[in-house]
Amino acid sequence: MNTTTSSLGQRLANKVSIITGAAQGIGLATALKFAHEGAIVVLCDVKQAAVDAAVAQCQAADAQAVGFVVDVTQREMVDAMVKSVLAKFGRIDVLVNNAGITQDARLQKMTIEQFDRVIDVNLRGVFHCAQAVTDTMVAQGSGVILNASSVVGIYGNFGQTNYAATKFGVIGFTKTWSRELGPKGIRVNAVAPGFIATPILDSMPEKVIEDMVHRVPLKRLGRAEDIANVYAFLASDEAAYVNGAVLEVSGGMTV
Ligand code: NAD
Repeated sequence: MNTTTSSLGQRLANKVSIITGAAQGIGLATALKFAHEGAIVVLCDVKQAAVDAAVAQCQAADAQAVGFVVDVTQREMVDAMVKSVLAKFGRIDVLVNNAGITQDARLQKMTIEQFDRVIDVNLRGVFHCAQAVTDTMVAQGSGVILNASSVVGIYGNFGQTNYAATKFGVIGFTKTWSRELGPKGIRVNAVAPGFIATPILDSMPEKVIEDMVHRVPLKRLGRAEDIANVYAFLASDEAAYVNGAVLEVSGGMTV
């Protein structure tokens, strides 16, 4: 790490921060933001080449960064990653539970496979990662867990039975863990993005995206960096009294 820049103005200096789904989209933007804020960044995603490329981008920003191929649905992979992080850095300060997928269909058309897969990644994966880091954070007496919900997890959405259930579920996790872990010095919060221009929107028809933009008072889709900035704030000591919150970052689309 560049010691000349780490002392001043970096809100996450030396905070060991695990980010899941960090190879692209909001996860990658968050890893880069955390890198610029001085964090030691641990990037997890499913494909080696994509993880390596993301790690290289963080290192180019002068950050200490390491990557792991982790499928969050596989508890052994999550546990092995946490063990390696502890062996290398000795602590875990922040977990950003960002990995998530969609497999959309209306209720009448949704297959059991589509339902199970989205539940597995978006809900079970978040549970795996949070549980895997919690003993360490409790022993430290400090830590931050940030969960990716969605406006769909507050209002529901056409064609997203499975996804909406997981994003509502993530809010349930957040509120429950904030009660359980707050007394132990661990803050737990969720971010509920609106529609953010990342590859997850690639499968959406252009007309649907145009309609979404029309509904947003700021008249644009969000950028991955808009969400990364909020994760950085919530991970930092500036958010020391923010716990159990669901922060909607949607350009005001639901106002
Ligand atoms: P994205 O598809 O661009 O990136 C998701 C990343 O997660 C990918 O790199 C993917 O490989 C990884 N991933 C998928 N399954 C995984 C698994 N089993 N284990 C580990 N990594 C896995 O998505 P995004 O738009 O950047 O979204 C990130 C998070 O934000 C998701 O949880 C998503 O639901 C949420 N979100 C996104 C939007 C949006 O409009 N883009 C809105 C609300 C919430």
